Amino acid sequence: MPPRMPIESGVPDPLQYMHPIMTKNYGAWKYHERPRPGVLCHTAKSGDQIWTVRAGTQRQMDLYTIRKLCDIADDYADSHVRFTIRSNIEFMVGDETKVQPLIDKLVSEGFPVGGTGPSVTMIAHTQGWLHCDIPASDASGVVKALMDELHEEFINENMPNRVHMSTSCCQINCGGQADIAINIQHTKPPKINHDLVANVCERPTVVARCPVAAIRPALVNGKPSLEVDEKKCICCGACFPPCPPMQINDPENSKLAIWVGGKNSNARSKPTFHKLVAAGIPNNPPRWPEVATIIKKILHVYKEDARDWERLSDWVDRIGWPRFFELSELPFTKYHIDNWHGARRSLNASTHIRF
Ligand code: SF4
Ligand code: SF4
Repeated sequence: MPPRMPIESGVPDPLQYMHPIMTKNYGAWKYHERPRPGVLCHTAKSGDQIWTVRAGTQRQMDLYTIRKLCDIADDYADSHVRFTIRSNIEFMVGDETKVQPLIDKLVSEGFPVGGTGPSVTMIAHTQGWLHCDIPASDASGVVKALMDELHEEFINENMPNRVHMSTSCCQINCGGQADIAINIQHTKPPKINHDLVANVCERPTVVARCPVAAIRPALVNGKPSLEVDEKKCICCGACFPPCPPMQINDPENSKLAIWVGGKNSNARSKPTFHKLVAAGIPNNPPRWPEVATIIKKILHVYKEDARDWERLSDWVDRIGWPRFFELSELPFTKYHIDNWHGARRSLNASTHIRF
């Protein structure tokens, strides 16, 4: 029998896109240094060196900006670029004399060079209005507004350790953990358009989707629909994706919340979940000034008070949450107490009728 051939889908082979120095020394690197913020220099066991220049982008880019970046790669680098998971663009060069002209060109075209080491690197964000069907805010807009204000922290390495931030445009939060995360927080149960439910929604799927079993099938005006037990509803928004007539997004009641202390890395300390520290912040485009004020305050006290190499979660672990709230001048309310230890019992953890 002939061997079963692989299905040609998924991530393409990266080696074909790598800088020749990287393919030549693949798996044989000795060490790396950061000669200045935004620049990495890797040295291979063979003695070869490669310089990487990292610049911030606005992530959702038009064709002209992408062409401009590609032209810079052709004219000032060695025609090789890559994007980091936080939407920075990196240019690789095999000759140190190319580094400064490349930096000058990037900065003159409006792309800040930085985001390495103990800096505030680019904020990771979820898809927002451009690509997703359920956002209550524009995550990329929050990123742009905030990074304009945190420009100095991006181009310098003045933080105790790296600061990863993320923004998410619904409460489901496909954005993940971060040292500081800005997430949507719904505060009112969904409003149901009963005329549409029967035509649009698969009702058992919607009922099964609710983590606290607050949704029941119901007949409304003789038509099959749904009802929500508002006393149980935790306003998570999980019913809205499978059932758009259960609209939960609202300009007034969809607020923003800030969470701190999450990290995926297990360097020095274990990975941690971020915790809620500020809630009910107005979702106020296009500059989200209330969010920016709180973020800058948290970053400021972290920078002042943390020891070298302490990530935000390590710093809070050392000083304790009461001191964190004291220093950051954020009010501590009853909403900060639930640590979800009881979630196994209080949330619907059944795997039945889940698709
Ligand atoms: S955070 Fe929510 S709304 Fe935003 S892209 Fe992810 S799933 Fe969609
Ligand atoms: S918002 Fe969440 S808790 Fe409320 S009814 Fe919908 S799925 Fe259930």
